[in-house]
Amino acid sequence: MIQCAVFDIDDTLYLERDYVHSGFKAVGAWMESEWGVDGFADAAWALFLSGRRGNVFDLTLAALGRGDLQAQVPAMVDYYREHTPHITLLPDAADTLAWLRPHLPLAAITDGPAASQQRKAHALGLVGLLDPIVCTAELGPGNSKPSPAAFVLVQDALAASGSQCLYVADNPGKDFAGPKALGWLTVRVRREGSLHESVHSGDDVDHESPSLAALRGILEAHIEWQ
Ligand SMILES: [Mg+2]
Repeated sequence: MIQCAVFDIDDTLYLERDYVHSGFKAVGAWMESEWGVDGFADAAWALFLSGRRGNVFDLTLAALGRGDLQAQVPAMVDYYREHTPHITLLPDAADTLAWLRPHLPLAAITDGPAASQQRKAHALGLVGLLDPIVCTAELGPGNSKPSPAAFVLVQDALAASGSQCLYVADNPGKDFAGPKALGWLTVRVRREGSLHESVHSGDDVDHESPSLAALRGILEAHIEWQ
């Protein structure tokens, strides 16, 4: 029986594209005040929506005719990662955490720069609701997903065996191999508008759903409700 529920954050509890948009706006405001650059956020967002990833800041500067600011890109990336994001839980995620909370300990395991992930957790109201919130970047090199390291850590923190743990996440490329190797139940949420929506689930996914609304039904066979 499942004794604890562990969640990914990005594209599981909120849409990561909302964080990207929030970051572009923050960087855009800074670029305008610092360097007199107009229209940065809108141009960067248009590039993101067209599928550009990884070098959006360079491309945006080029598109705006401000290639002279190329040397500022590392500072822009820092600013993006350390901005206070304006993001909110998706309604089905908020509902799910609220109804699960009285029944099970809840926790999170998330990849990405620790400074960014901690700010996301605060902005989403997850601090205190999920415990522990494990940022894999803080565990040292080689411990981000698909490594099982963070999953072992959560098992130990919650005094649970693998077969008593549930992981809910969105990215079949890295999220599920670690917990599945430890015997966890895995649920993939495949949200419309999420970054990995088009990627098909592998054998390490036990259940797939377009939102978290289906989680209660999925868990009926795995939980003794208290
Ligand atoms: Mg994710």
